[in-house]
Amino acid sequence: MLTSWYSVPRSDYPDLRKHNNCMASALTPAIYAKLRDKVTPNNWTLDQCIQTGVDNPGHPFIKTVGCVAGDEESYEVFAELFDPVIKDRHNGYDPRVMKHPTDLDASKITHGMFDENYVLSSRVRTGRSIRGLSLPPACSRAERREVERVAVTALAGLKGDLAGRYYSLGDMTDKEQQQLIDDHFLFDKPVSPLLTCAFMARDWPDARGIWHNNDKTFLIWVNEEDHTRVISMEKGGNMKRVFERFCNGLKQVEHLIQERGWEFMWNERLGYILTCPSNLGTGLRAGVHVRLPKLSKDPRFSKILDNLRLQKRGTGGVDTAATGDTFDISNLDRLGKSEVELVQLVVDGVNYLIECEKRLEKGQDIKIPSPIVQFRK
Ligand code: ADP
Ligand code: MG
Repeated sequence: MLTSWYSVPRSDYPDLRKHNNCMASALTPAIYAKLRDKVTPNNWTLDQCIQTGVDNPGHPFIKTVGCVAGDEESYEVFAELFDPVIKDRHNGYDPRVMKHPTDLDASKITHGMFDENYVLSSRVRTGRSIRGLSLPPACSRAERREVERVAVTALAGLKGDLAGRYYSLGDMTDKEQQQLIDDHFLFDKPVSPLLTCAFMARDWPDARGIWHNNDKTFLIWVNEEDHTRVISMEKGGNMKRVFERFCNGLKQVEHLIQERGWEFMWNERLGYILTCPSNLGTGLRAGVHVRLPKLSKDPRFSKILDNLRLQKRGTGGVDTAATGDTFDISNLDRLGKSEVELVQLVVDGVNYLIECEKRLEKGQDIKIPSPIVQFRK
């Protein structure tokens, strides 16, 4: 049979010349040609992994990743793309030779209470995926509903301060949903280009929802960007207490899932497996809403954040503008450092930012700290 010109990989290679994301930096024509016709056991392809990064060249503050996994196997079948993306996004972490540490012992955190004149709220989140079910970009309706069923059945076993209930998006009124979004508890509507271009918004709001305890301090999102997102948050600056609740709640959730014969996707090189390669490892984003009117207008602000391995976002979430005096400041890395190390890095980093803000208030000078080296090579 003659091979027509449009069926050879060369003819399908995307135009990435104006792109600034990790996928575009890593995807050479040779890698594309080699991987284009491969499929995972769930029939997920390279083109489906990269579509979001083809359609979204970049983000104003964050070098985006530009690809997603459709299942746990994507990271192996398309390793020649994902490995360099992971290395680029995670500050040199080499997923072929390095091992990822896990540490959920919150008692190790020191100085975990922020000055509440500056820190308005504290939050720690991660994601967890249920092994054996396709990830949100690829899952069928039935798989998505199964994720919801597994999560909600397990969560019913939480007790004491963590006891709560599930609120399905489909059963909420628009007003209730908007209130939860405005109060920073619930994920946004599917406006994010990541969700839409990576096929994660299909069938919205089917099988999406939020589980939370009565105080709304321990929350689990179901079927947004990941099967589950586990969140601990509260007003004020007590990051240590937030992290304690996070560790305690997460361990209980894992136990309840395992009791029913399910397990989370995990391996020792990549840690917890999630949809976006930026969340591999711990999946942990520990952050605060912090008021920094003076420092944020100082030209050194960005450099200070970079050197402390911190990221800034707008307070309405990743798709909102980081303008004004108050920002979401969180750890940039998720992989290669443990949960305890990352939370301590945020605690030390944010305390440093507050110290700078106070110095600027008094007309004193500030210093750019030396860069944190994540991995000794
Ligand atoms: P994630 O990385 O958890 O998906 P997003 O940037 O998408 O975070 O934001 C999700 C929601 O969480 C938004 O409503 C955002 O305002 C809220 N949020 C994030 N960090 C904090 C924080 N420290 N305090 C209060 N709300 C927060
Ligand atoms: Mg998000």
